[in-house]
Amino acid sequence: MNLLSGLEKFGLNSKDMKDIFSEDTQEKKAKVSKKEVAKEEPPKPKKEEPKETDFLLQKAIRCPVCDKVFKTLLVKNGRIKRKESDRDLRPRFMYIDTLKYDIASCPYCGYTAMNRYFEHMSTTQVKLIKEGVCMKFKPTSEISDEIKEIDYDEAIERYKLALYNAMVKKGKISEKAYTCLKISWLYRAQIETLEAELEKEECTPERKVSIDKQLDIARTEEIAFYNQAYEGFEKAISSEMYPIAGMDQNTLDFLIAVMAFNLKKYEVASRGVSRLLTSTSASSRIKDKAFDLKEEIINAIRNGK
Ligand SMILES: [Zn+2]
Repeated sequence: MNLLSGLEKFGLNSKDMKDIFSEDTQEKKAKVSKKEVAKEEPPKPKKEEPKETDFLLQKAIRCPVCDKVFKTLLVKNGRIKRKESDRDLRPRFMYIDTLKYDIASCPYCGYTAMNRYFEHMSTTQVKLIKEGVCMKFKPTSEISDEIKEIDYDEAIERYKLALYNAMVKKGKISEKAYTCLKISWLYRAQIETLEAELEKEECTPERKVSIDKQLDIARTEEIAFYNQAYEGFEKAISSEMYPIAGMDQNTLDFLIAVMAFNLKKYEVASRGVSRLLTSTSASSRIKDKAFDLKEEIINAIRNGK
């Protein structure tokens, strides 16, 4: 499958960009920044409930590639309330899925990246983006000044564009892996939203058929991007310095162990967990989580899952 399909409308041909991590091996190491992000419950159209837009603001930023200034949406971090994350660290918040807003995309030239990576690029990377993205890029929408909610399809499209850009600029493996992980999380969130809609009484039979189709696609893509992210992080730990995508070694070890568990790679997951449980630098919080994971691995192996 072509993971980057859908970018044709931007004028970008993703067919020759199949292997996400291919050009990375000889790359020199650079520093990464730290992570934030988040996640919501499917928005319910109840009366007094805050809207996603209540937690958003606009900020003007300058594109490091074409030098034009444009407005991007950011989350008002002080106002959001965290909920328990998924075990693989997917962050979740009340009323808003902050993950959707973690991409900056220049509407003029097409340069797109996760917020944390957006401004940081070398002159070589600027040149690569100009040649590989800007020269082909076709703006798709009117440049608007309003604060409006981004839906999952659009959010996923923005992340895929970011992934395409990361491949063109020969970004670090961890940047691409992290982008894949977040795309996978977005599909998971979309699946949750669609499943919740299916449960509703007002969901018509026609709508159910269309949701089922969307769910099939979303489930396939969720796993495909999860696999890519896993493969990428495994490569990143052998070639990059910590912090990797903002994570210290213990956090990333834990993330990889959980991902391995979710992908039914129980041996890898067990090894990761054992390392964490005997680590002298891991916090008791992460050790507790590792211990819980260990129990689940044992159960899964016992039940032959
Ligand atoms: Zn630009």
